[in-house]
Amino acid sequence: MLTGVGKAMAAFLAQIFPARCLLCGREVPGSRQENGCCPACSQDLRPYRGGHCPGCGLLFAPDDPVSLCLECRLKSRPWKEFGFFGPYQGVLRDVILKYKFQGGFGYAHLLQTLLLQAYALHLSPFAPDLILPVPIHPARLAARGFNQSLELGRGAAKYLGVDISSRGVVRCRHTPAQAGLPRKERLKNVQGVFAADKSLVQDKRILVVDDIYTTGATMAACTRVLQKSGAKEVRVLVLARAVEA
Ligand SMILES: [Zn+2]
Ligand SMILES: [Zn+2]
Repeated sequence: MLTGVGKAMAAFLAQIFPARCLLCGREVPGSRQENGCCPACSQDLRPYRGGHCPGCGLLFAPDDPVSLCLECRLKSRPWKEFGFFGPYQGVLRDVILKYKFQGGFGYAHLLQTLLLQAYALHLSPFAPDLILPVPIHPARLAARGFNQSLELGRGAAKYLGVDISSRGVVRCRHTPAQAGLPRKERLKNVQGVFAADKSLVQDKRILVVDDIYTTGATMAACTRVLQKSGAKEVRVLVLARAVEA
């Protein structure tokens, strides 16, 4: 017989690790996967290990080597390292969209786990002093109710035992959503958008986290503003890399 506390704990665990697969809803008999998915869905959520650019995650054919893309060769990115979990497509894209627009603790937990896998796979062993999520504007925050990048970064902050702050870099101008804008417009769209808090970021090794990396315009603007405010190093970790059309 479960005591009151035991029952509450069991209910809590059942909420985190539902008896049904988080993604396909199929019942998962016996022990579940750590991430709350059935074995089949977990298979679809493995970190991408194929050919890509280590500077920006540009995807090459799976058999191609890891090598800098033309753009990164011509002009190196402002960050020191870049890591991502996988291409923004298939199951990963579905989970991110569900998480962003439906919320849900189970999805948050799953995506935090994936982000940590990307961290371990792509970034050299280093301990950041501070984790910063790419900020969203207060108006968008009010509409969505949460900043997905802040929630994603919490898992890494807990695991690494470092602080995460939504005040290190803020968005001071509301911009049209980047999605749907042509590349040139995206670059213009993020100019002067971010401001960093020098007292928080100066001399810090910073890990910036976000859910999706598209052209890198947002991430570059964010990184530069941190560097201008005295950040010692900036590394970038995202869940998904957009697939170029
Ligand atoms: Zn499943
Ligand atoms: Zn590149």
